[in-house]
Amino acid sequence: MKILIVEDEHPLADALTEILKQQKYSVDAVYNGADGLEYALTGIYDIILLDIMLPKIDGLEVLRRIRAKRISTPILLLTAKSLTSDKVAGLDCGADDYLTKPFATQELLARIRALTRRIGEFTGDELRHGNTALDKNAFELKTESNSVKLAPREFQLMEMLMSNVGRIVQKERIIEKIWGYNSDAEYNSVEVYISFIRKKLSHIGSDIQIKAVRGIGYSIEIS
Ligand code: CA
Repeated sequence: MKILIVEDEHPLADALTEILKQQKYSVDAVYNGADGLEYALTGIYDIILLDIMLPKIDGLEVLRRIRAKRISTPILLLTAKSLTSDKVAGLDCGADDYLTKPFATQELLARIRALTRRIGEFTGDELRHGNTALDKNAFELKTESNSVKLAPREFQLMEMLMSNVGRIVQKERIIEKIWGYNSDAEYNSVEVYISFIRKKLSHIGSDIQIKAVRGIGYSIEIS
């Protein structure tokens, strides 16, 4: 799961980044509306946290332009404004939810979970395929007899593969989503992580095979 934070108060942006990373989300933060728009339009994010009062382009205008480009990423507005008219304007512009600052971390996390459930990518606490489950709370891969912890990038990679059973997940998409837009991660970084995961799958007796599709990406199948 990849989250974009658009927030010009650096201490708040940094604190949110830290909190979300602890929850195993992959996070990019930008500090003005113009950068927010540019990043959002890549379409690689699963959710966007968007401040309203922003330098360069204000949040509501960023929101309008994102929706005008038919990018449907769920957007949670973060706003110091508690006026009903601003909330209505935000929802009318295509926001999915809003949170008035200051907010409690637990509430933010609950809203994020609700929005990601809505897009259907997170259906419950486990992804299952064959004899294996990916536990999203414990960050583990499990079979009936055994389990193994995954490192954050291994978890994100396995989540992408298990959310796309029967499809090829492209290497470019993996790099964008896990290492970040503008990342200089090499293709062989992905290969290294795939090899870690294969070892872990085999260690727990999983019947999932990660198949490399030469020059394109990876898919999983049951052996
Ligand atoms: Ca602001």
